[in-house]
Amino acid sequence: MLIDSHCHLPEIEMPGGVAAVIAEAQQAGIGHLLCVAIDAQTWPNLINLCQEYPCVSASIGVHPNANPGTVLDRAAMLAAAGNAGVVAIGETGLDYFRSEGDLAWQQERFREHIHIARDLKKPLIVHSREARDDVIRILKEESAHTVGGVMHCFVDDLETAGRAMDLGFYISFSGIVTFRNAAALREVAKQMPLERMLIETDAPYLAPMPHRGKQNRPAFVRYVAECLAELRGLPLEEIACVTTENFYRLFLASINSDTQATARSSS
Ligand SMILES: [Zn+2]
Ligand SMILES: [Zn+2]
Repeated sequence: MLIDSHCHLPEIEMPGGVAAVIAEAQQAGIGHLLCVAIDAQTWPNLINLCQEYPCVSASIGVHPNANPGTVLDRAAMLAAAGNAGVVAIGETGLDYFRSEGDLAWQQERFREHIHIARDLKKPLIVHSREARDDVIRILKEESAHTVGGVMHCFVDDLETAGRAMDLGFYISFSGIVTFRNAAALREVAKQMPLERMLIETDAPYLAPMPHRGKQNRPAFVRYVAECLAELRGLPLEEIACVTTENFYRLFLASINSDTQATARSSS
């Protein structure tokens, strides 16, 4: 079984909609999907998806490029993140590539996400583009190590991976690791400890080879796993097993408390 630790199900366009995307993923051996929030408009849909599909978990957050200049509605976010199936806070972080100008608002919003994650004891899903020093600094300043999380769609160097892992974070590889021009990233994947490795698609974006440039979907996480297996000289089953264990270790506390909450409310 494989897990797609980061996808955006409602943005994938397929005849039959989300049901068809999930069916295709299950047929491809993807046992669980973490559907990640972009902005507050996406939250109700994600919460519904978790209720409808036991193989789907969700995160609640506002992407660093979404709603530029705005602050978080803390009360709304706490309420949304309290729903069953919400296992993480994000995606949050810093993106200096796609946003321009004075990005103090982005940093402030990132800090707010960390505060909420700490209040709720849920791990963080962190997006970082051309901002690695500020991302690590803010994670440290806000004591993000108390909840940990994942550096999603990782594209930085081994040293940055090490600094994130020192804070209890996992490193997630997307289809980018399969791209021809990603030799440096493959080197990171080759050398980092397996017990901190996750896999994701970030679908509908960043389809791996041989589907690069087309719409991505969770079923394609297999290509990421195959690439990592080859790099590490391990069978695919081993990569599948380790990344699945890692996923549940990181998100298990949240998944467990949800199950317990559901058990309590139904008794
Ligand atoms: Zn992202
Ligand atoms: Zn994403």
